[in-house]
Parts: sequence; C-alpha cells; structure tokens
Amino acid sequence: MNNYYLNKNAQSNGDHEIHKESCYYYYMYRGGFNFEFFGAFATEFEAIRYARSKYPYLKIDGCAYCCPSIHQK
Ligand SMILES: [Zn+2]
Repeated sequence: MNNYYLNKNAQSNGDHEIHKESCYYYYMYRGGFNFEFFGAFATEFEAIRYARSKYPYLKIDGCAYCCPSIHQK
C-alpha cells in the first residue's frame, strides 16, 4: 500500500496531479502547494479512481514520475 496525495492547486494545463508519499516531487513541492492526503491504496488505478470519485469536478492525472501507469500526458 502507498499513501497518495492530491495537489489541490492545478497545474498550468488545468490538471490536478496525484502523487505517492515517496515521490521526489511531492517532497519538493509540498511546502508551496496545497496537497491533500486522500488515502492508502494498493495500486495507482485504485488511487486515481477514488480521487476522481471524490472530486468529480477536478481534472485529475497521475504524476509522470511516481505514477507512470496512470499518467496521461
Ligand atoms: Zn509524483
């Protein structure tokens, strides 16, 4: 299981990225962005499915570095 965090601040393309707790970028940016812990999941797919169901109004993508299997672009 990994802990997952959602960046509540959108990127310039409008995406909100989700990160694992172990992600380098999460550690780099957690001071300046508004990350929310939203749960522990066994897979990246479960994590993004839950995040999208919790925040259906946000455009959510996986981080390219820590969640490559769910990163879309
Ligand atoms: Zn990441």
